[in-house]
Amino acid sequence: MKQAVREHKVLLTITLLCSILTSAAGVLIALILQKVIDAALQGDKQLFREILLLSVVYLLLLGLFGLIYSLCSKALIRNVTITLRGRVFRGVFRQKAETFSATNTADYLSALTNDIKLLEDNYIQPMLQVLQNVVVFAVSLGILLYLSPLVTVILIGCMVLMFAIPSLFGKALQHKQSEVSSQMSAFTASLKDLLSGYEVITSYAMGRYAEQTFKQQNHRAAGVRFAADRLFAFNESVSHTLAILTQFAVVFIAAYLIITGNLSAGSLVALVQLSGGFVGPVLAIMENLPKIQGIKPVQERIDLFSEEKHEPDAEGLTPVFHSTLEARHLQFSYKQGNPVIQDISLSLEKGKKYALVGPSGCGKSTLVKLLTGYYDRFDGSIALDGTDLKRLDREKLQQMVSTIHQNVYMFDSDIRHNICLHEEFSEQMLDTALHTSGIHKFLQNTPDGLLSPVGENGLQLSGGQRQRIAVARALIRNKPILVLDEGTSAIDMQTAYEIESRLLKLNELTLITITHNMNEDLLGLYDQIIYMENGKIAEMGSLEELLKHGGRFRGFYTLEKDLAGATG
Ligand code: ADP
Repeated sequence: MKQAVREHKVLLTITLLCSILTSAAGVLIALILQKVIDAALQGDKQLFREILLLSVVYLLLLGLFGLIYSLCSKALIRNVTITLRGRVFRGVFRQKAETFSATNTADYLSALTNDIKLLEDNYIQPMLQVLQNVVVFAVSLGILLYLSPLVTVILIGCMVLMFAIPSLFGKALQHKQSEVSSQMSAFTASLKDLLSGYEVITSYAMGRYAEQTFKQQNHRAAGVRFAADRLFAFNESVSHTLAILTQFAVVFIAAYLIITGNLSAGSLVALVQLSGGFVGPVLAIMENLPKIQGIKPVQERIDLFSEEKHEPDAEGLTPVFHSTLEARHLQFSYKQGNPVIQDISLSLEKGKKYALVGPSGCGKSTLVKLLTGYYDRFDGSIALDGTDLKRLDREKLQQMVSTIHQNVYMFDSDIRHNICLHEEFSEQMLDTALHTSGIHKFLQNTPDGLLSPVGENGLQLSGGQRQRIAVARALIRNKPILVLDEGTSAIDMQTAYEIESRLLKLNELTLITITHNMNEDLLGLYDQIIYMENGKIAEMGSLEELLKHGGRFRGFYTLEKDLAGATG
C-alpha cells in the first residue's frame, strides 16, 4: 500500500506542497479581516485601499493553488488506485496454484473493488485532510498567540477535552471496519455463488431459498455497515458539540477583553475566525484519525494479495524434459487430513502414454497435480530429468503442462481466440490443432466458423465442444505434457475415441489420462496403465499384462465394464 503511494512521488509532492500553501493561506484571512475592520473603525482610507489590493492578489493566488491542489489530489487518488489494483491483480496471478485455489475468488473480487474503495475513502483522502488540517492548526496557533495568549490558552484547554473523549472510539471503530470488510466479502461470495448457480436454482425451484439467502446476507451486510456508521455518528456528534462549546468560550472571553479595553474589535473578529480555524482542524483530524486507524485490517488484506508479498522461487531453474518425470516415496495430505498419497514411487518417460485408473477418490487427480508442480508441500521427492521440482521456475513448469478438466474455462469471445489466447500461430498450426482435436467437425455446422462467439464461459457450446477447444488450446502450444482429467468425458464415445487415439499417436507428447472409460481398444493403446487404490499404486503395466495377471485391476475393469454395459 505504502509502496503504491511512493510510486507517485512527484504528484504526491506537488499535492502536498499545494495543500500546505492553500491551507496556510486560508488562515491568513483572519489577519486581513482584523486589519480591514480596524482600518474601517479608524476611518483610515489609505490603509483600506492597500488591504483591498492585497486581498485581490491573495484571492487570486488562493484560487490558483486551490485548483492545482484539487486536480493533483484527484489525479493522485486515481493513480494510486490504478497501481493498487494492478499490484493486487498481479499478486493474485503470481500465487502458487495451491494458494490461489485455497482462497474464494469472491475475496479477490472484494479486495479489488470494495477494499480499494474503502482505502480511498478511509485512508488516502483522510490522510490528505489530516495534513491540511495540521497546517491550518499550526498557522492558526501562531496568529492566535500573537493576537491573544489568554484566548489561546483557553482554546488549548478545550481542545484537550475534545481529544480525550472521542479517542475512546478509535479501537471500536477499527473493529467495526474489519467486520464491514469481512461481511462485504461474505456478501460478494454468497452473491457469486447464487449467480453461478442460476441453472440449478431455476431448474430445482430453489428461487425462494435463493431469495431467502440473499435477503439474509443483504441485511447482514447492511446491518454491519450501519453499526459502524452509528459509531461514526456518535464520534462526530460528540466532537461537534465540543467544538461549538469552544467557540462560545472564545467569543465571551474576547468580548470581555474588549469591555476591559484590552482588545480591538478587529481582533475579536479575527479571534472568532481563527478559533473556527483552530478547532475545525482538530475536529477534522479527530474524525479522520480513527478512519485511518480503522482501515488497518483492510490495508493488511490488500498487502496480503499484493505482488510484493509473493517471493520468487528459490532457484528458478528452467525446466527441461528430455527423459523422465520421477517420484520417489511420495507422501501427501491436504491440510488437516489423512494422507491422500501414500509412499508412491513412479517413473514416467517422455513420449509415453499413461492411463491413470482407480475408484473415485483414490487420489488420481492429486497424484497428477503433485507430479505437475501444483502442490509443493509433500514428503518424498519429484524430479524432472533429475532436477527437483522445487528448484524449478514455477511459471515455466506450469507452461510445460496442459491439463484438461471436465469444466473447461472459456473466455467470452470467439472460438479462435479461445484456442489462440492472444498468441499468434500460423494457419497450418491452427489447422493441425483443429483436426487433431476434432473441432473441424463441428465448425462445419457453425455459420461463422472460427469466429463464432462462445458466450459467457462457453455457454453457447456443448460440454464436448468446450473440451475439444481445450484440447486444441494445448496442442497448438506443443506442450510436452498433456493431462486429460476425465478430459474427454463430455464428448460422445466416438469423438472421444477419435481425439484420444490421435493424441496417443503424437510421439513427442507425454500423455497422462485419468479415466473411467474402460474401453479395451483405447486402454490397449496406452503404454502403461497405473491402477490406484487408497492413495497407493496397486498395479502398473500394459492392459494385456494387467488382464493376464488377473489382479485387482482386472476386478475393477470387469466391474466398470459391466456397470457401463448396464447403464449404457
Ligand atoms: P480421484 O481423482 O481419484 O477421484 P482426488 O485426488 O480428487 O481423487 O481426491 C483424493 C482425496 O482427496 C479425496 O478423498 C478427496 O476428497 C480429497 N481431496 C481432493 N481435493 C481436495 C482438496 N482440495 N482439499 C481437501 N481434500 C481434497
